[in-house]
Amino acid sequence: MKLSKFIKRFIFITAFVSSSLAFLVSMLYQYNNFQNDIIYIKNEFTEQKKKEIKEEVLTIHKFIQYKEELLNDSIHKRLEERVNQAYTIAKSIYDENKDTKSDDEIKYLIANSLKNLTYPNDNSYFFINSNKGRAVLFNKEIKLDNYTDVWNLKDYNGDFIIQKQAKVALEKKEGLLVNNFVKPDTTDKKQYSKISYVKLFEPFDWHIGIGEYVDEIREKNKDDLLDWIATIRFGNNGYIFVNSMDGKSLVFDGKRVKEPKEHPFPDLFQKQLDTIKNPEGGYFSYKFKKPNTSEEYDKISFIKKYEAYNWIIGTGIYLDDMQMELNRKEAIFKQTVINQIKSILVIFVVLLIVIYFLSEKLSNYINSNINNLILSFKKASKNNEKINTNDLTYQEFVTLANNLNTTLENKNLAEKRLQDYIQIVNENVIISSTNKDGVITDVSEAFCEISGYSRKELIGKTHNLVRHPDVPNEFYENMWNTLLSGKSWKGEIHNINKKGEEYWVWAIIKPVIKNNEIKGFTAIRSNITDKKHIEHLSITDELTRLYNRRFFNTKINEEINRAKRENNCISLLILDIDYFKQYNDTYGHQKGDVALEDVARLLKNKTNRASDFAFRLGGEEFAIITTLEKEKAIEFAQILRTEVENLKIEHKASDISKHLTISIGLVSKNANEVENSDKLYKEADDNLYKAKKQGRNTVFFDNKI
Ligand code: GH3
Ligand code: MG
Ligand code: MG
Repeated sequence: MKLSKFIKRFIFITAFVSSSLAFLVSMLYQYNNFQNDIIYIKNEFTEQKKKEIKEEVLTIHKFIQYKEELLNDSIHKRLEERVNQAYTIAKSIYDENKDTKSDDEIKYLIANSLKNLTYPNDNSYFFINSNKGRAVLFNKEIKLDNYTDVWNLKDYNGDFIIQKQAKVALEKKEGLLVNNFVKPDTTDKKQYSKISYVKLFEPFDWHIGIGEYVDEIREKNKDDLLDWIATIRFGNNGYIFVNSMDGKSLVFDGKRVKEPKEHPFPDLFQKQLDTIKNPEGGYFSYKFKKPNTSEEYDKISFIKKYEAYNWIIGTGIYLDDMQMELNRKEAIFKQTVINQIKSILVIFVVLLIVIYFLSEKLSNYINSNINNLILSFKKASKNNEKINTNDLTYQEFVTLANNLNTTLENKNLAEKRLQDYIQIVNENVIISSTNKDGVITDVSEAFCEISGYSRKELIGKTHNLVRHPDVPNEFYENMWNTLLSGKSWKGEIHNINKKGEEYWVWAIIKPVIKNNEIKGFTAIRSNITDKKHIEHLSITDELTRLYNRRFFNTKINEEINRAKRENNCISLLILDIDYFKQYNDTYGHQKGDVALEDVARLLKNKTNRASDFAFRLGGEEFAIITTLEKEKAIEFAQILRTEVENLKIEHKASDISKHLTISIGLVSKNANEVENSDKLYKEADDNLYKAKKQGRNTVFFDNKI
């Protein structure tokens, strides 16, 4: 995959995955919040609604209380004012008459004046009692003529009415009292709730008081309150209901019950009675119909007792209303959350699109930079030239390019070195490769140079092209045997160049083996011509070009040893020209030299086998080492002797022939029988001596000596 594509995908996928995760987390968070909020809203809403109905009841409670207090206050004020008025009258009567009239007269005057002091539109009246319990003005009657003791008078609650009044007058001088008392001017003996105000009248140790029957006022007040309560509406179906403790419905189903009757649902009423045992009020659940419907719904109500009136005041909320309200709130809330999610989704999609384009742009940018780099690399590797780092954008690319530049430099340097080295090798090392048949497939410059042939001339030919004619066949047979057995061959090779000049090389030839099969050969050679030349000079006789005596001394030992190794025969022939002194004498030393050269040439030509060697031991004495066995060696010696004579080099001074002849001492034996070279030589030399002795131009062979 392309790096740019990978980066693009990576950025996009990473962004996509992280955005999706963020989106999911946000959604989960939202959902969780939503769930919690819904529960919270539900609880909160329920609590709120419960609180609302409680507040509603408590407000009404407070209002009733306020109205009650207001009512009481106005009564109190009125009674206090009136008592003070009565007191002032009584006091002025007393002050006016105390010195002129008797106490009884004055008492009478006072009682009388207060008896007649009445107020229109209400039924209040003054009363006077002594603080010891004697009635003075009692139930609008003056009781001064007959002693009337009211000290132990009780109301229906069992309270001592007069005693309480006397106590307030004596202890507080004046004050309010609440009690129940019969109404004067009526025949019924029923006691009614009455509020009285009393004040101490010190001159006679009396208390003067006035009372007002509050039932009617209070009833009127209650009536107004119930009317007002019946009009209260709140929320969808909210209304207030009022029941009395004795089981009567006063406001029912949001309507005033003008003539209170028994609560229609005793069970529900009992529930209310149970609930208001808590003085703080309380909630209770039940089923009830909605106003103007006949269907019943679940409802929760809060009720509290209004102690003074023995009222149970309450209101409720229909749970389905609450649920509807709740559903409405939930729907609004849901819509809000959905809108939020939609916005997030839109943001998410926009973000993704932006990221996509950004990653695309980034990828293109990176791609163009990478392409630039690749192009630079291609150009650099194609032309082997350095990358221009100024064209690159990123530091990493520059570093990469610098590394490549260094590598390139090193490579170029190495290549140059290698090229130089190859050139040196090519120019200086004589290398050739052949196929398995010895056909040349490649040659070095140095090979061309030493051989004098061009590459074109050499390729496709065999090394026979440079084979020196002197090299015996066996040499190459041996070489091939070694190579074809898979071994390397090392040795000196005598070659000839295009111009016909000889040259020598030291060669290492190795077979090229692949899959156990010889595919060809490679040969590395060094030119040893000069060495060979020097060596040749050191072992060659200058005049005859045969090997010299020094080489003979080396070679004889080598050949003996080789023959011993190979369990072969070794034959040594020592040849000496007959009457050569005379020849020189006759034809001159120069002719003598020519004759020596002629004989040497013949010997050379007759010893061209790899195992035959011809030497000039000195003067006109020669030697031949050969591996021919005895019979063949004798035959060979005879041939040599004959062929020398057949050269027909005129030798007038010879006693035995008209031509130049040679005598040969021959020794031929199995190499293992040879003790050493000196002894072998001596034997041959002795045989030569014997050949001379026998008359010359002969071969002497006697192995037993
Ligand atoms: P024989 O048959 O017994 O061998 O008699 P000979 O004369 O050959 O014997 P001898 O060994 O006495 O003589 C060898 C002669 O060879 C002596 C010398 O004049 C001659 N001679 C030795 N070296 C050279 C040389 O390099 N050139 C020429 N021309 N003559 C040489
Ligand atoms: Mg001689
Ligand atoms: Mg001699």
